Amino acid sequence: MQSYRDLPLLINQWANVVRWEMRTRLFLRTLEFLWQEGHTAHATHDEAEEEARRMLGVYRDFMENWMAMPVVTGLKSESEKFAGALRTFSCEAMMQDNKALQAGTSHNLGQNFAKAFELTFQTETGEMDFAWNTSWGVSTRMVGGLVMTHGDDNGLVTPPRLAPIEVVIVPIWKNDDEKTKLTDAAYKLRDELTAWMGRGAHDRLRVHVDARDGMRSGAKYYEWELQGVPLRLELGPKDLEKQSVFSARRDTRVKAPIPMAGVAESVAKLLETIQSDMFAAAKARREAKSVRGIASYEAFKALMEGEGGFVYAGWCGGAACEAQVKEETKATIRCIPDPEFRSATAPTSCLCCGATATAEAVWAKAY
Ligand SMILES: [Zn+2]
Repeated sequence: MQSYRDLPLLINQWANVVRWEMRTRLFLRTLEFLWQEGHTAHATHDEAEEEARRMLGVYRDFMENWMAMPVVTGLKSESEKFAGALRTFSCEAMMQDNKALQAGTSHNLGQNFAKAFELTFQTETGEMDFAWNTSWGVSTRMVGGLVMTHGDDNGLVTPPRLAPIEVVIVPIWKNDDEKTKLTDAAYKLRDELTAWMGRGAHDRLRVHVDARDGMRSGAKYYEWELQGVPLRLELGPKDLEKQSVFSARRDTRVKAPIPMAGVAESVAKLLETIQSDMFAAAKARREAKSVRGIASYEAFKALMEGEGGFVYAGWCGGAACEAQVKEETKATIRCIPDPEFRSATAPTSCLCCGATATAEAVWAKAY
């Protein structure tokens, strides 16, 4: 990088990282993890800010529209931001135990790292200046987020868009005669589903037939449920007679027959419904455990000792209040939420000290 003509510079990498962790936690805090990290260099502060914001949006899009995991986006407080950054933005998701999971971050690094590493460039007017940098990343921690957002007592629940297998077909038979007939019908159904190009030639339905012998259907169902396959299609002699297939959703466990006529389109539509229902359910759960306008700091303490959740409350901007709340309740400021998440009526006083609030903050216990 020498001239403004070389900017912006964008470097993306996927890397395995090893970090010392005193206490590890599967998927969330592991000694070694896979992450994606991006680094950019820009000619101006505003371009860097725009890039940091854009990547936060990219992460949010993936988390919400692919993982079906709703997030609150916003700005980290000074004490929670990445050391050396001007500003850190994050995506905060609520897990089913009402704790927050920081699922991804994006930093506007300003010129701090450029100055430390003498990262300079020649500007349009011929002077030398330090570059404006950003960095951003997500990791296999998102797998943990997915498990804890959607999983239930029967195992994983995978959003269709991310499921390696979206549909499992289980043929059901009682004797060898039926076995041949039903297995053939199951493969024929699979072929019909995978040949369908309604989502585009490169996004065929991902379908698996479980025709394993010597295994009861119930045991097969259990296994695929555990793995979180979004949709199961059961095919027995009676279904074949009626020219239909019996479907079972993994997310709601709702069962219903689907006619064979136009089956591919019906299945694709149902998968879309599952995808959006999973997001809506997770969002409704988050909102049910989000408190706005909490009565007092005592009420806040009681909530954090109890079931927890996201509390939208005022903050004076003081690090002392932030530290005190953390000390007394283990809750931290997850972010200063972006405008779309803020309460209709802005809180006027600090949750902790009662002084005039300078911002609304989201407080929660976090992983
Ligand atoms: Zn305060």
